[in-house]
Amino acid sequence: MSDHPTIGDTLEQTADRYPERDAIVYPRKDQHWTYAAFDERVNRLANALLEAGIETGDRVATVLYNGSEMALTVYACAKIGAVFTPLNFRLPAGEIEYIVNDAEAKMILFESETREAVEGARPSLESVAEYVFIDDDRNDVPAYASGFYDVLESGSTDRPDVRVDEDDVYAFIYTSGTTGRPKGVVHEHRSMVEHDLLCIAEMNLTRDDVGLSMMPLYHCAELHCNLFARVHRGAANVIHHEFEPQAVLEAIEDHDVTLLFAAPTAWNALSMTAAEMDVDLSSLRLGLYGAAPMPEQVLENCMEHLCEDYVQAYGMTEIGPAGIFQSAADQIPKQGSAGLPGLNHELRIVEPDADPDQVVDEGEIGEILIASPCTMREYWNRPEATAQSLREADGTTWYYTGDLGYRDDDGYLYVVDRKDDMIVSGGENVYPAEVEDVLFAHDAVEEAAVVGEPDDEWGETVAAYVVGEGVDAAALDEFILESDRLADFKRPRTYYFVDELPKNPSGKIQKFKLREDEAGLEPEAETVA
Ligand code: ATP
Ligand code: MG
Repeated sequence: MSDHPTIGDTLEQTADRYPERDAIVYPRKDQHWTYAAFDERVNRLANALLEAGIETGDRVATVLYNGSEMALTVYACAKIGAVFTPLNFRLPAGEIEYIVNDAEAKMILFESETREAVEGARPSLESVAEYVFIDDDRNDVPAYASGFYDVLESGSTDRPDVRVDEDDVYAFIYTSGTTGRPKGVVHEHRSMVEHDLLCIAEMNLTRDDVGLSMMPLYHCAELHCNLFARVHRGAANVIHHEFEPQAVLEAIEDHDVTLLFAAPTAWNALSMTAAEMDVDLSSLRLGLYGAAPMPEQVLENCMEHLCEDYVQAYGMTEIGPAGIFQSAADQIPKQGSAGLPGLNHELRIVEPDADPDQVVDEGEIGEILIASPCTMREYWNRPEATAQSLREADGTTWYYTGDLGYRDDDGYLYVVDRKDDMIVSGGENVYPAEVEDVLFAHDAVEEAAVVGEPDDEWGETVAAYVVGEGVDAAALDEFILESDRLADFKRPRTYYFVDELPKNPSGKIQKFKLREDEAGLEPEAETVA
């Protein structure tokens, strides 16, 4: 190892110190491994990957649901300096093609649930030399692929003899593709080890913790904030193939789970299921949420039915992803806030796109900048995007988040909206999230997305795309006027009623498609005065 540990070193340290502690529990395949056993299997896979011709810097892509195989693969890659490149398991063939070709991946791991999409992309994947199919029934392995468990068994259990440095690339993690095509975020070993320490500190993670991973491990929130931090600390990891509320609640009782991360929509589903189930959740000491704002009511329900304490993380793929944390004690007094900078992080609010020293006045809305030891090296193959989002001032590199927010008197961050989604109408700023909140309050509105439309007189006017039955523009306009919550320039002038909104595979609405008329919708407009 070098002076600073790599991701592979974090596992080896834990395995050396606490060989008999529980590492991985994967009930779906009846696997239950101590840290010694997990490390040994990781070595097997790492050596097998070397045998298969994977070298330092080669990209190894996964199109996998959660499983022990994800955990084995990410650490095996880390130990040999291969670049882990996890893809969302819900991607259609065209998106797999885009990412795998962009990353020029040499190997792809996939499984029966993702086989059709991978096969659809396969004719266009020129860089891929090896396909590995992870299902344990060997008869199912396609002719062009190797079986994961055959590969695994062929490797030696010795720690691989490959030198990996702290500033080597550990992974390409693709962003969610909410604001355009997914971008490959290049993360180094050192910054992700720093990120472990951040999460260990902010969650007071101990070796006695038992975490449950049921949010997707292809996303860095579950992978880095949870699995990585726990492996580094020596805590236990229960892995669920996918998110099923009832199974998760039963697993909390069965495995005495103490920690759980979920997106707000999943917390909502868990609290509603728990309210109707007879299950002992007393082991659960902390819930972590992030990725989107948590509605107040959902948080209250979670406190009532699941556990008392929650920590919120705000961030993005480019910084690891966590950077700002709202502590358990702040949940009620600072409701709606994302919290304060985490350990070793700094936060600034500046005029959108302006230099890092153009700080706005306290309480003013501006672009959120974060300085973090966990920031990406660059976007893969996108020098312009990299130069735009990473800017240096006085020796500090600031990451331009593209999100708008403000800080209160105590320095707490409030996230307002994405910068590109802001509408400027007649010189006034309109934050779509604020308009959407009012529309959501109408019983008939299932989904709403507010965007700006070019207008000769006002520059832009406000347009609302709405999914909902039995409601029209006049009714919504009246509802907005009666609510008395929106200034007149924020009122949508045009409504589009649609069956669905364009979303990325994580469920976030892709407003750029609405603005560019790329959504393939043929909505009928209803204009109000
Ligand atoms: P792309 O960059 O490809 O458009 P994306 O930004 O959605 O996709 P992610 O990195 O997965 O990809 O998501 C980060 C974004 O999610 C942040 O920029 C922010 O807008 C939102 N977000 C994350 N955490 C929170 C939070 N706690 N509260 C509110 N919004 C959040
Ligand atoms: Mg983003």
